[in-house]
Amino acid sequence: LRSFTILFLSCVTIITRFDWCFSSITTSSFSLNAVGGGHFSFDETSLRNAAKDFGNRFQYQPIAVMNPESVSDIANTIKHVWLMGPTSHLTVAARGHAHSLQGQAQAPNGIVINMESLKLPGMHLHLGADSDSDSDSDSDSPYVDVSGGELWINILHETLRFGLTPRSWTDYLHLTVGGTLSNAGVSGQAFRHGPQISNVQQLEIVTGTGQVVNCSKDENGELFHSVLGGLGQFGIITRARILLEPAPTMVKWIRVLYSDFTAFTRDQEKLISSENNNAFDYIEGFVIINRTGLLNNWRSTFNPQDPIQANQFKSDGRTLFCLELAKYFNPQDIDFVNEEVEKHLSYLHYIESTLFLTEVTYVEFLDRVHVSELKLRSKGLWDVPHPWLNLFVPRSNIHKFAEVVFGNILTETSNGPVLIYPVNKSKWDNRSSVVTPDEEVFYLVGILASAVGDSSGNDGIEHIEGENRRILEYCERNNLGVKQYLPHYNTQEEWKAHFGPKWESFLQRKSVYDPLAILAPGQRIFQKAI
Ligand code: FAD
Repeated sequence: LRSFTILFLSCVTIITRFDWCFSSITTSSFSLNAVGGGHFSFDETSLRNAAKDFGNRFQYQPIAVMNPESVSDIANTIKHVWLMGPTSHLTVAARGHAHSLQGQAQAPNGIVINMESLKLPGMHLHLGADSDSDSDSDSDSPYVDVSGGELWINILHETLRFGLTPRSWTDYLHLTVGGTLSNAGVSGQAFRHGPQISNVQQLEIVTGTGQVVNCSKDENGELFHSVLGGLGQFGIITRARILLEPAPTMVKWIRVLYSDFTAFTRDQEKLISSENNNAFDYIEGFVIINRTGLLNNWRSTFNPQDPIQANQFKSDGRTLFCLELAKYFNPQDIDFVNEEVEKHLSYLHYIESTLFLTEVTYVEFLDRVHVSELKLRSKGLWDVPHPWLNLFVPRSNIHKFAEVVFGNILTETSNGPVLIYPVNKSKWDNRSSVVTPDEEVFYLVGILASAVGDSSGNDGIEHIEGENRRILEYCERNNLGVKQYLPHYNTQEEWKAHFGPKWESFLQRKSVYDPLAILAPGQRIFQKAI
């Protein structure tokens, strides 16, 4: 331990006091075998990679990348930065799969911790008291313990070996557990199970003082709730216990179209209401504005054998709304499932000729966006700037929002999908750090643009950012009660407004768990030291 400390401190001393000579040691890779087996990288390629993310708009290089192999590597790194006190400007960012949009996983001139290199001794599965039961009680539920740097796609494959699966997902699975739990993790299952942060039983956290703490609702509950949706501000998630349920093998995947927004939202809300809660297992929706193309469809492509694809439906210039549903099943239950699907479709008010239905495996359904990722990558359209805007819009204002945003602001867009679906606030734990509108039903609206054109053209970054600004200004001016998801602000005043009544407790939690504001500087909420 002493040799690690000396090596590390001397390294940090060089880094902080002699920035100018740092480049002379950039080729060295720094071994920490004495502690947990991890190592630091200082080479140009590692630093450049640590300054990249999916958003492709902000690139701030760290001065070192730590590749941990154990929790103690992470704890020691943070503890030493903590011990350097407030006069050091060194910060630390956990980097999951770097699918952030505005540099949130970057640490300008700090240390980036490459979470994917954290090796825990495998994923540990607990089968639960009765893994066949559909019980909603979490106490006897099966679960899996995973590293905070684990990708959700790997968890899916591992748990399926035991006939089990996590209950709540994101649309795209090549994201890490720590990355999505720091936001919320929302997809079409959230109406029933809540977001991913509502499906975690226990966490292991390294706080901003380098302490390793286990927490759950009942043990260190304040830290547990702080970290969930906490934007990486209170600690680094090194292990998470994820609740599981029995896995289906197949999915009926359905899309129907609406030209009437009121009918569309009424049906979505009916399907997430408690009386129809078991009708479908996944409920989402998207807007089809004007033209369509690969960019608009990237997040989910139907099996090409399908005669027609819903998202290529000729809209003749009209704005259409696509309700997307999934029903999970096992082949032996097919007759019952067909009846159920027919029954629930019968009371919906979609355009009758627009029922698109296909059957795919459970893995194909959950990993659907990856297929599109591969297509976009092959055309050089994946690594482009992504000026995404994700919003939570209260149900009471969704019509006003749609009228102006889809009717006036996004009229020409063909830059990417526009998601819209409701969730139930009662499935979100208000003690977590995430901020949502103050209504039982609110909509997730994801305007997922790719900037592929000239910077000033309609497909360019400036144009898209201008549209995003107009949308935010409209919501603000008209007090729509909209909250940003995956939020991004430039000033603390804006953060304060975002958190609203939660700001004081957010500050208080920060002062307890990361008093020097060492963690996640890329969120730009706090400056070291507060
Ligand atoms: P990173 O970008 O690496 O990190 C995000 C933030 O979390 C940073 O501040 C980082 O410092 C912090 N962090 C990372 N790991 C840890 C850790 N172990 N402990 C503490 N803090 C940590 N989101 C949804 O909710 N639903 C979706 O359907 C969805 N689909 C998406 C599809 C695509 C193609 C993309 C690019 C993003 C999507 N997202 C979605 C957003 C995604 O959930 C977030 O961007 C998430 O942060 C990405 O995870 P990551 O592992 O890449 O995190």
